[in-house]
Amino acid sequence: MPASGSRAVIESSDRKPPTTGQERVGWGAYLLTQPLASSEYPTVTDPIDTPVTYEAQTMTDTTTETDPTATPAPAAPRPPAGLISARGRWAAPPLPPQSLSTVRLGEDATLIVPFTDSAALTSRHFIRSATGNGGYVRCEGGGCLLCALGKKAEDVTLLPVYVPADGAVRVLAIGDNVRPGALGPKLVPILDRVMAGEKLVVEIRRLPDFSFEVAAFPLTPGGADGAPVIAQFLANLTSGAVRLADVYPARPRAELLSIPGLAAEALMRGIES
Ligand SMILES: [Zn+2]
Repeated sequence: MPASGSRAVIESSDRKPPTTGQERVGWGAYLLTQPLASSEYPTVTDPIDTPVTYEAQTMTDTTTETDPTATPAPAAPRPPAGLISARGRWAAPPLPPQSLSTVRLGEDATLIVPFTDSAALTSRHFIRSATGNGGYVRCEGGGCLLCALGKKAEDVTLLPVYVPADGAVRVLAIGDNVRPGALGPKLVPILDRVMAGEKLVVEIRRLPDFSFEVAAFPLTPGGADGAPVIAQFLANLTSGAVRLADVYPARPRAELLSIPGLAAEALMRGIES
């Protein structure tokens, strides 16, 4: 698997003291810059992830080819920042687009199959809107309109899990809350077991007081563990075809200001569109 550069993932089951490149975050997790641990699942080679080779294009004019005073042609430049190689895009068929959504936890039990403890950290806002265009939105950090309007930003850990009921990988959004009954700390010993090679099903219930009941039991031998779906997801994640943080839309400023309540508050604060 290629190095994933600066992709921020966290490794939560490793409770050893941080080593170089790790930073303690959240509920006993470490911020890492390493690819997902996917050793239990087959490696899928992603064509998009294959480095694109830019063929050297000599710019030499044949009429001056033998001119000893001619300066050597510079190496063919890579596409400027923000652009891609069109050939690289279609040299191999791209994977189908895959969109992610969060796991909805409630008082009914939800079953998940954890397969990694590599997660992403993000920050979200919740927009209340009477016109139906509210919901969670990604916090953009510096320059975030919602922060400027004094809206609370909540840090969440986004852990991909397989949801048997959906036959799909979805994202468990785990708050930084570490009070008794919080979800994150309850998952740590389970993720320890998963990362040690156990195949587990986890049953989660969110209680009325927003604490969580969490129980783990072994995956039924021969039961559908979602391995092909998980392998495809990991390939897409590694290639950047899916990003965990995309479970929350980054809504443009103008779109946010079209929400009546936010527009009124922005006006009161003298924030211009
Ligand atoms: Zn914000």
